[in-house]
Amino acid sequence: MGGTFNPIHLGHLLIAEEARVAFELDKVLFIPNAAPPHKEVADTVDSEDRINMVKLALEGNPHFRICTIESFGQRDAEYTANTLKNLRKLFPNYELYFITGADALIDMNNWRSPEEIFSQCKVITTMRPGKNTDELDLAVANLKSAYNASISIMKMPAVDISSTQIRNRVKSGESIKYLVPDAVREYILEENLYMQ
Ligand code: ATP
Ligand code: MG
Repeated sequence: MGGTFNPIHLGHLLIAEEARVAFELDKVLFIPNAAPPHKEVADTVDSEDRINMVKLALEGNPHFRICTIESFGQRDAEYTANTLKNLRKLFPNYELYFITGADALIDMNNWRSPEEIFSQCKVITTMRPGKNTDELDLAVANLKSAYNASISIMKMPAVDISSTQIRNRVKSGESIKYLVPDAVREYILEENLYMQ
């Protein structure tokens, strides 16, 4: 499961856990992407902080692991098709699944080398508040016919949480308790992340 994890929140953890159980996955790897070039996205915090928060969020869960394969390169070089190639080398005996919410799935047609992505993994996706089911169904149908993609739409309780919303709340001094794991909330407050 790739993402910016800026910061990681309970929506990320729930989609990972639901996918793990429903598809009997051995492990879920959380793969934070590289920080964008400076100032391009002003409130994307450093890879190091995002990694620390992912680690805190995953603590104590033996099924979840952080994977920093994308975290320190050039953002552009670390595209998903390439990451999958590297993961297949590292774990040749595993079948790979890419876990993603509806918003990212709907955009996947615009990602680099979609044919390489879909030939190397199966995809698990789920609805996300703000997207509609028809839009997701259409995107899935198009990707299946264009790339022979294997995509499953997983049912799970909709979680209306986004990192954007967390950052905005911190900025305006609102509580983020119960939206992110406690240890992540403490880290954000201690390190003064997202304050401006
Ligand atoms: P931002 O608001 O900064 O874009 P985000 O909440 O969308 O943050 P990302 O790191 O961009 O988080 O997302 C990583 C992956 O997790 C994506 O595939 C995204 O669709 C999925 N995801 C994030 N939040 C949810 C959620 N609440 N429900 C389902 N999927 C989610
Ligand atoms: Mg997002």
